[in-house]
Amino acid sequence: MIEADARPSLPLTDSDERRLLRESVSNLAESFGHRYFTEVVAKNEPPAALWEALGEHGFMGPSIAERYGGGGGGLTELAIVEEEVSAAGMPLLKLLISPAVAGAIVEGHGSEEQKMRWLPGMAAGTDRFSLAVTEPDAGSNTHKISTRARRKGDTYVLTGSKVYCSGLEDSNWVLVLANTGTSDDGRSQLSLFMVEVDHPKLHRTRIPVAMRAPEHTFSVSFDDVDIPADRLIGTEGEAMKTVFSGLNAERIMSAALCCGVGRYALRKAAQYGREREVWGQPIGAHQGVSHPLAECHAQLEAARMMMMAAAALADAGAPAGEAANIAKLLAADAGTKAVDQAIQAHGGNGIADEYGIADLYFIVRLQRIAPVSREMILNYIAQHSLGLPRSY
Ligand SMILES: Cc1cc2nc3c(=O)[nH]c(=O)nc-3n(C[C@H](O)[C@H](O)[C@H](O)COP(=O)(O)OP(=O)(O)OC[C@H]3O[C@@H](n4cnc5c(N)ncnc54)[C@H](O)[C@@H]3O)c2cc1C
Repeated sequence: MIEADARPSLPLTDSDERRLLRESVSNLAESFGHRYFTEVVAKNEPPAALWEALGEHGFMGPSIAERYGGGGGGLTELAIVEEEVSAAGMPLLKLLISPAVAGAIVEGHGSEEQKMRWLPGMAAGTDRFSLAVTEPDAGSNTHKISTRARRKGDTYVLTGSKVYCSGLEDSNWVLVLANTGTSDDGRSQLSLFMVEVDHPKLHRTRIPVAMRAPEHTFSVSFDDVDIPADRLIGTEGEAMKTVFSGLNAERIMSAALCCGVGRYALRKAAQYGREREVWGQPIGAHQGVSHPLAECHAQLEAARMMMMAAAALADAGAPAGEAANIAKLLAADAGTKAVDQAIQAHGGNGIADEYGIADLYFIVRLQRIAPVSREMILNYIAQHSLGLPRSY
């Protein structure tokens, strides 16, 4: 557990600047709205106009340093952007990876040349990044990955395959975790590489999934992909440290997405509960309808507080792992429950596309599995917060 005196003081409410950011993102997102999201999903297109508008207003890279074209803020600002676009019914998975994870990794571990090369495009939203970590035979045990990168002069040669790599259809770059050797004690030495998505020896196949989102997910194979050595991010063999710096960002952004979608669903459910009458009074007057929604609201608010606390800790440079994991756990559960309850409150209409709720179910449900499963989060809390022994 984090010692109380090691915590910086945490804000309980938004500063004026952050309130303005929240309002501006919300106004912009609401001008697109959930209908725009469903249209691009139905057309199998990326949300290019939304992405461009967010980039133009500086909302794509508020956490990236100003000297690299970003807003000079922190994860708090980026989480506000994700929460507000999600609260408008447009959760963007892409923001979790690019700029959150890739931003934290490149800014934290890239050379000056790499930062100058990738961060300005990331902050503008004109360059987009994916992350390829998961493998069919390794799963949650990242140390078991078998994708290999062998050094050959000034290049590395990458061979292997990944599954569930999201957003590749609309990315220029993908961060790939690969094995570059074995240490004396038999542990895999992992390294992280920035790879061009359109490399001719990178092959991808879309994986059909139940989730309705603009980001598609792919299995990817690397068939002797040559990577210039200057695309190695951080130190060779120490990628777990490098990737680690992006994990808090990913968990906090995942929590922000769930809080936003949860708010969107509850807002719709409350409106329906006020308007729909079947027994001569609004259905929201029945406590069987209102109490579960009220409970979802309470749980979402608790998750939001934890998410903002985690972001504040990360921005203050304080240990944020425990808070980020708890925020993700609470928000994924609360967001999923809120969407499910909003469907229930709509009766049969809850399933109809016209009401714009059920199509968001799987994007929040996914957050209980990815980017890290709730069981692996509970393992983290059991071990790090409670000092319990590891089972694996
Ligand atoms: C739509 C989608 C998009 C994704 N996008 C990406 C992406 O962009 N990049 C990427 O790299 N990955 C991505 N993933 C993969 C995702 O991160 C993994 O699915 C997730 O980390 C779980 O790994 P797994 O599926 O291999 O499950 P497994 O590791 O096979 O686990 C299966 C089940 O067993 C549980 N389990 C495993 N080990 C333990 C343990 N020690 N203790 C308790 N329970 C355990 C898990 O919690 C889970 O419930 C995506 C997945 C999906 C479905």
